[in-house]
Order: sequence, then C-alpha cells, then structure tokens
Amino acid sequence: MRKTCLIIGAGLAGSAAAWELTQHGFKVRVHEQADVVGGHVRNEWLRGIPYEPHGAHIFHTADEDVWNLVTKLAAFVPYRHRVAMRIRSHHLSWPLQHAELSQLEEWPEIEFQLSARPPVPDSTNFETHCVSLMGETLYGLAIREYTRKQWGRDPDTLSASAAYGRIELRGDGHHDVFRDPYQGWPDRGYTELVEGLLERAELHLGQAVTHTDLVELCAPGEPVIVTSALDDFFGCGLGPLEWRGVRLKSELVPHAKLVQPAMVVNDPDATVPWTRSIETKWALERLHSLPGTIVMREYPGAPSKHYPVPDSAGANRALQRSYEHLLVQDARNLLIPAGRLATYRYINMDQAIRQGLDAARRILEAS
Ligand SMILES: Cc1cc2nc3c(=O)[nH]c(=O)nc-3n(C[C@H](O)[C@H](O)[C@H](O)COP(=O)(O)OP(=O)(O)OC[C@H]3O[C@@H](n4cnc5c(N)ncnc54)[C@H](O)[C@@H]3O)c2cc1C
Repeated sequence: MRKTCLIIGAGLAGSAAAWELTQHGFKVRVHEQADVVGGHVRNEWLRGIPYEPHGAHIFHTADEDVWNLVTKLAAFVPYRHRVAMRIRSHHLSWPLQHAELSQLEEWPEIEFQLSARPPVPDSTNFETHCVSLMGETLYGLAIREYTRKQWGRDPDTLSASAAYGRIELRGDGHHDVFRDPYQGWPDRGYTELVEGLLERAELHLGQAVTHTDLVELCAPGEPVIVTSALDDFFGCGLGPLEWRGVRLKSELVPHAKLVQPAMVVNDPDATVPWTRSIETKWALERLHSLPGTIVMREYPGAPSKHYPVPDSAGANRALQRSYEHLLVQDARNLLIPAGRLATYRYINMDQAIRQGLDAARRILEAS
C-alpha cells in the first residue's frame, strides 16, 4: 500500500514537501485554507504586468539543490535586486553606501559620528545596534522612523536580531542588495513554480485545518507537515502570537513604462504613511519597453501575518516554544513544523523550500 502524508498549507514550504514526498511514491494530501495556492509568493498579472499582492519577492540563494529544483520547474531570468531609499530629494542606495553619504547636508556630523563608532556594535536592542553601526544622525535620517512605521513600536523595544542581515553600511560599492551566487525572477511568476511542486499532490483548497481536525483527516501514525501558524493550529489555546501585517495597495499607471528608480523605494519619512513602494515590472527586462506599469505601496499595520515580532524581551519567541512543545507532545501523529508561519521566523523563499524538503526527508527516513 502507498504511504501517505497530510500537509497543511500550499505555500512554498508545504509545496516543496509535497514535491519531495510524491517523487518518492507517497500519496500526499495538501489542505490549503485559501482558494488559490502559493501563499505569500503568489503573484498576479494585469494587462501583462506582474504585481505581488503580498509584497516584493526576489529569489536569491546559495543553496544549489534548491536553485536546481526551482529552475527545473520554472524558467528564471537574471535579475539583480536594487533598492533605493528616499531621503528628502535624494535617492540613496539601500543598503546605504558610505560613498553616497556626502550628498546629505548632515554629512559633517555623520562623518564625525562614523569615526567615533565603537569597534563592536552594542546589541542591547535594535536601536543601540543601529546607532553603533552608523551613528545617531544617519540612524535618525534613514532608520528610526522607517522602523517605527514598519513595526508600530519604538525601535528600542525591538531585539537587535531585527537588524541582523538587514541593516548595513557598505563601503565596498556593491549595489546589489543580495550577494548570493544564484539570483533571479521566474519569467512567468512564482505561481507556476508552486503549481509545478504540487503537480502530483491531491489538493484541497478552501480548507483551513486545525489540530482538532486531524482525528477526521488522518489515520493514527500518519505524518503531518504543518506550515500554518501554531497559535492558529492549536486554536490559540496558549494565547495569540504577535504579528506585524502590511496592506498592499496597487495603482496602475497606464502609459508609463517604469516610474521608479528601482523595483523598491523605501520611504523613511514619518509623514508618508507607506514604508515602501514596489514596481515588480523591474524584474522582467523584456517588459521594460512596454507601456503600463503597476506600483504597489506597502502600508504597515494590517491584521495579517507578515512579520513575526522580535520583541527585545523575547516574550513572543517563548510563546512560540510553548506551541512547539505541544506539537512534540502529540502521541497520535508525527507533527513536523516547516515554513515561516509554523516556525514563527522571517525566512527567505529558499529557506522555506529547504525546510519543506527537510521535513519530507525526515518522513522518508522514518518510513
Ligand atoms: C513582505 C515580504 C517580502 C518578502 N520578500 C522576500 C524576498 O524578496 N525574497 C525571499 O526569498 N523571501 C521573501 N519573503 C519571504 C517569503 O515570503 C517566505 O519565505 C515564503 O513565502 C514562505 O513560504 P511558506 O510556505 O513558509 O509560507 P506561506 O507562503 O505563508 O504559506 C503558508 C500557507 O499555509 C496556508 N495556511 C495558513 N494557515 C492554514 C490553515 N490553518 N489551514 C490550511 N492552510 C493554511 C496559507 O494560506 C498559505 O498558503 C518576503 C516576506 C515578506 C513578508
């Protein structure tokens, strides 16, 4: 008899797990609460122009296996991601470049503060970490208000971990945001990639699954890969996990070819209600000369699960650990968490795929 597995969620993590298991002869049922697959990376097209309802997604990885898998299932075109940051009338590169700072009126102060930085950053919290990287003035211009808008809280209440790998002051003139050896954008969008991963799975759309549903949905001993948020999965029994959501509002600009200096423009101005604007068309050079573009603005503070909140006291991570403990305690089924929601971590797409593949391999090894 064929071995079986239940997967909750048809984002990249659940779909990658489904791919790996079905390749090894498993019969896999994927239950997805939405009416469409793809989760966060699902993209849409309007008049031949791509846009991303859940935010800009650029594929970048150093994981060769993951790159080989995604490029086998979808055609990727080369794209090197650039982000601009608007400070008054200036568009600076993001991550900030040392060589561009002299155009700011505050440069003498900034230069002095940079020369007085401590040798090791003070990682007491997000704010102390950033100030010790770039000085008070540059932090105030580029980071403080953006962070307040993004997280809806004072930066000194965030853990320094929110800055790791994201906040940088570069001196090497490398303007691409990412340094990974493999980077690109799928020519026909991410949804095609997810559909490819799910090709052999049995899909149940519009079906939210919680822990109590498992008695009906799967047999005792059957493995379950959970890619939904664990507080939802356990009916919020231990209380809700804190998330920061964003709302994306798109605008079609019918006659313009491209309207921004880069795919993403960050806006740290406290009087501007959005954090950044996104023009996904930048990713596909073959479209650049065509008229019509779509700009999406990201407004923070929506009731959706975009970013887990890394509070400096660590309360959210402690609650997540308690939910993970409930997973391990389940005596009826092997419950394996994978993906951004179930691990309550910001992870990139390649990591979500890797977690899905690893969860599947755990099941294959145990079978
Ligand atoms: C704004 C933003 C921008 C990003 N940009 C990038 C980028 O440029 N590059 C990059 O590599 N990564 C980026 N990421 C990260 C990327 O979005 C994630 O790594 C990836 O989408 C995670 O996939 P996942 O399957 O873990 O989660 P999801 O895509 O969220 O999939 C989970 C799925 O589970 C479903 N689900 C949830 N609860 C239930 C339930 N109870 N029952 C059934 N189904 C359920 C959901 O509907 C969803 O389809 C970005 C993230 C954000 C927030």
